[in-house]
Amino acid sequence: MNTPDYDLIVIGAGIQGAGVAQAAAAAGYRTLILEQTAIAAGTSSRSSKLIHGGLRYLESLQLGLVRKSLRERDILLDIAPALVELVPFYIPVYRETTRRPWQLRIGLSLYALLGGLQRRDRFHVLSRAEREALPAIRKDGLTTVFRYYDARTDDAALTRAVAASAVALGAELRCPAAFRRAKVSEEGVILEYEESGESRAVSGHALVNAAGPWVNAVLEQIRPHVAPRAVDLVQGAHLVLDAPAPRGVFYVEAPQDRRAVFVMPWQGKTLIGTTETVFEGDPAKVAPTQAERDYLLEIWRHYFPASKDTVIDSFAGLRVLPRSEKSVFHRPRDTVFHTSHHGNRVLSLYGGKLTGYRATAEEALAYLKGVLPPATPRADTRTLRLEPVETS
Ligand SMILES: Cc1cc2nc3c(=O)[nH]c(=O)nc-3n(C[C@H](O)[C@H](O)[C@H](O)COP(=O)(O)OP(=O)(O)OC[C@H]3O[C@@H](n4cnc5c(N)ncnc54)[C@H](O)[C@@H]3O)c2cc1C
Repeated sequence: MNTPDYDLIVIGAGIQGAGVAQAAAAAGYRTLILEQTAIAAGTSSRSSKLIHGGLRYLESLQLGLVRKSLRERDILLDIAPALVELVPFYIPVYRETTRRPWQLRIGLSLYALLGGLQRRDRFHVLSRAEREALPAIRKDGLTTVFRYYDARTDDAALTRAVAASAVALGAELRCPAAFRRAKVSEEGVILEYEESGESRAVSGHALVNAAGPWVNAVLEQIRPHVAPRAVDLVQGAHLVLDAPAPRGVFYVEAPQDRRAVFVMPWQGKTLIGTTETVFEGDPAKVAPTQAERDYLLEIWRHYFPASKDTVIDSFAGLRVLPRSEKSVFHRPRDTVFHTSHHGNRVLSLYGGKLTGYRATAEEALAYLKGVLPPATPRADTRTLRLEPVETS
């Protein structure tokens, strides 16, 4: 093979692919990113839209993930102030809530510690007057309300901003352009994709498979064949309710099964989610099931009984979780890096959080260093500003 067309080819313009393309372009690599549908068309527009450490991951002792995510949250608050905002999170405790105030105090203290004990990480117990002044939420049986601060975003807008930053740094984006197959040798990768009904071929030193729920479908089309990792696709649904947006995020316990569920502001209305339903089938067809709608509406009516319960929109996304005997709740939520093919020229990304995309991208480049040529860095993603992109 002569000099390949690109240093790195990235499949998928969800947050992970956009993040890797941005980090690669910032590091000075000639980068191509292929997206089959639209930027953030997959899971990256169907998340809970929180940029957070994930208080609930303390229950499954994922301390490293929480610490890393809180660090990334702080970076994003600095570099993307128009896209990521700090908001109050409220945890109401009722007489019947299983997570007791002492447990929540320990959890929130540990969360603050992992966040570096900054001012923004301190939590507070609302006074009776503050509690009573909270609009809409049921007051009957309410004994304590904790408030802490975390961040939220528009996930699709954040992904578009990261992709635009990658392009501004020199990455080439082809969209819609669908990866079809690739062949990997000691010299590099030759890849075929389809754009505007035509088949095109390009070459690269390395390939990042950031196809989200399609990760194994992509891996299956790479020769020589390697066994993909066994994963479960776990669907999470959200409902948009025709109720005024709450002034913060409410972190409530589902009365049915005690899972933590969020009630959040979203585009002037209320968003509630999420669920955990094992999914099989075509990822492009994922949609909330009737059982998920009923489950989320029951939670909404339980905690916000006086509010309207008209559903005006709904969506579902897919988590990619390593297959294991553990319950979905207890499976690790950090990205799994899977390297394969001649000298590890192919890196497949499984799972991960929206919040941690930047750190994941830097780690991905570290995995590929051995197969990428020398390059001169152009920028540092820790300080590169992200701006919203106009959409027509
Ligand atoms: C219900 C739910 C709630 C979540 N909430 C949060 C949260 O609040 N905070 C948080 O930090 N994280 C959250 N997450 C996790 C986060 O949303 C995901 O980890 C992240 O969006 C995954 O991004 P991705 O780029 O890996 O995948 P995707 O966004 O799915 O992107 C993959 C892309 O690859 C493209 N693609 C696939 N095949 C091809 C092909 N052959 N050729 C070209 N392109 C292809 C697809 O079209 C798609 O755009 C949540 C996840 C779920 C499911």
